[in-house]
Amino acid sequence: MKPATVTVLGSGTSMGVPTIGCGCAVCHSADPRDRRTRPSVMIEWDGHRILIDSGPDFREQAIREQITRLDAVLYTHGHADHILGLDDLRPLTYPRVTGGGRLPLYARAETANVIRSVFKYVFDDDYKYGGLAKVELHEIGGPFQLLDLQVIPVPVIHGETEIIGYRIGDFAYLTDFSAVPDESMRMLKGVQVVFLDALRHEPHPTHSTVENSLQVAARIGAGQTYFTHISHDLAHEATNQTLPPGVRLAYDGLRVAIDLEA
Ligand SMILES: [Zn+2]
Ligand SMILES: [Zn+2]
Repeated sequence: MKPATVTVLGSGTSMGVPTIGCGCAVCHSADPRDRRTRPSVMIEWDGHRILIDSGPDFREQAIREQITRLDAVLYTHGHADHILGLDDLRPLTYPRVTGGGRLPLYARAETANVIRSVFKYVFDDDYKYGGLAKVELHEIGGPFQLLDLQVIPVPVIHGETEIIGYRIGDFAYLTDFSAVPDESMRMLKGVQVVFLDALRHEPHPTHSTVENSLQVAARIGAGQTYFTHISHDLAHEATNQTLPPGVRLAYDGLRVAIDLEA
């Protein structure tokens, strides 16, 4: 047993909910669970804390969850809604916070390349203006050791490209997929808590629907499934009432107990 908590920092799709300029009922809902910042989760165990993705709402999320230090950030892919908060990691990379080392970031080569080009200044040794996030980017292939954890990248199909989700112990986080390959399904065997992309009901070229994710959830067979990366098409309470037991929409601030050793 390695008891841990996963906290949903953001459960929304790329534009967030409410969406700028939208007049729909969900964008004007009084239910706080209908307010969805950009997708990210935080995992805490034994005095450690890591993130999966750092999106454009990271600053607000970190203040809300009172994040005062971080051990690492794992990236799923290089899309804006998953990486644009990298600059806001800055205060968590101060030497007095990290104890001197740089904050490690982990990503596959394609994603690392996007991060290096979008945040060129962060990785520029000749940058003269100070105020940079002190990070170090590690390229990952297969499973790797992070602190006392075995982290398993799980390939998923996101439209035309392959990106990754992550499995750690009995927990898996698969955001941004349109399909999960059979080989990846095998990597998810025994998972008890799983987060799945479920954008809306209407088909989308790069994201899963509620219906598709219900099938994926049934195949994985986790005790608890949470849908995330949710658009303004899905009202929290009304949608939950249509979901089977063990499947629920995630919401910002949701905390779930997991076991990182299973
Ligand atoms: Zn996304
Ligand atoms: Zn994406």
